[in-house]
Amino acid sequence: MSSISASSLAGALLRQEVLDLHAYHVPDSSGYIKLDAMENPYLVPPALRAEIAEAVADAAINRYPDPVASSLKKQIRAATALPQGMELLLGNGSDELIQLLALALNKPGATLLSVEPSFVMYRMIAIFTGMRYVGVPLKSDPGSEDFSLDLSAMLAAIHREQPALVFLAYPNNPTGNLFPAEDVARIISASPGLVVLDEAYYAFAGDSFIRHLASYPNLLVMRTFSKLGMAGLRLGFLAGSAAWLMELEKLRLPYNVGVLTQAVAAKLLEHHEVLLHQAEQIRQDREKLFQQLRGIAGVRVYPSEANFLLFRVANAAGVFNGLKQRGVLIKNLHGSHPALQDCLRVTVGTPDENEQFIQALQGSMHNI
Ligand code: PMP
Repeated sequence: MSSISASSLAGALLRQEVLDLHAYHVPDSSGYIKLDAMENPYLVPPALRAEIAEAVADAAINRYPDPVASSLKKQIRAATALPQGMELLLGNGSDELIQLLALALNKPGATLLSVEPSFVMYRMIAIFTGMRYVGVPLKSDPGSEDFSLDLSAMLAAIHREQPALVFLAYPNNPTGNLFPAEDVARIISASPGLVVLDEAYYAFAGDSFIRHLASYPNLLVMRTFSKLGMAGLRLGFLAGSAAWLMELEKLRLPYNVGVLTQAVAAKLLEHHEVLLHQAEQIRQDREKLFQQLRGIAGVRVYPSEANFLLFRVANAAGVFNGLKQRGVLIKNLHGSHPALQDCLRVTVGTPDENEQFIQALQGSMHNI
């Protein structure tokens, strides 16, 4: 055994799907104006931070967390206006819940279907849990409205592939658009399997399917608190009928939401209005940023109902590097999907960060 190197041993023992994957890449952002990861740019006011400090100081970190997080769930239920009869399942971020769903529905040959381009973890998790993955392209031909849902292609793919699990990000990442609710309803009705609406960006959007949960036996809504100022806490949830969540609960690892996450999220949700106010500010600043981007020659910006904007330039790599040289980090999507050629994505920051981004962008566009 000792004559074999660790890398050849790993190569021989690991599943091929794992060897073929690339790890989710997170670039080093230290020192940059960080507009790459759809985070909320604001901390909460000092008085609330002091309350949080007290809650953290009192937290029983010598004990395992409340395994069912009953008090936090009660607060989430109230904050989301969860309809009567619907239940919650909490995750260590919503990424964990995507994985849990894939593990639960992963019968031999089962398919996970989504649209493309969309959140990359749907595909990654399908692959590493051994599910078949099918991506249905969004409309991206020059003649059609970019990144809109191709409803007939979706319905045909659902009919053909009979997916066990469908993920739709509502609004979509990285395109920012909110698919028409009637089309989403048609997709849910036409799906033989479970449909999960991923409402990660609900706080910045004009619609949600939470209130329709009782209308569809095959619908779950997933949300995260990451975009609402709690990315560092890692907290997401699935909402839906007890029949689904009781079964999925069996796959949840016993203490997946830690003591500190429960304590801090509870404090923040006591002051939910502070977070909603920040989200409203971000929505307003998104509109301003949209208009500013629209006014720059050589930039095509796409409408967004999320806390980021997707835009296309002539040379994404050049503009991305120019921005970095000027101290601003955004996301270069070029190369991640053919429809995203020369596309960049910027998170809406504080008004000051947005202004610095616009100036850096103008500088970068002139110099390439
Ligand atoms: N869904 C979508 C559509 C996302 O964009 C993200 C984060 N970028 C997530 C889920 C995951 O969020 P988290 O794991 O932080 O809850």
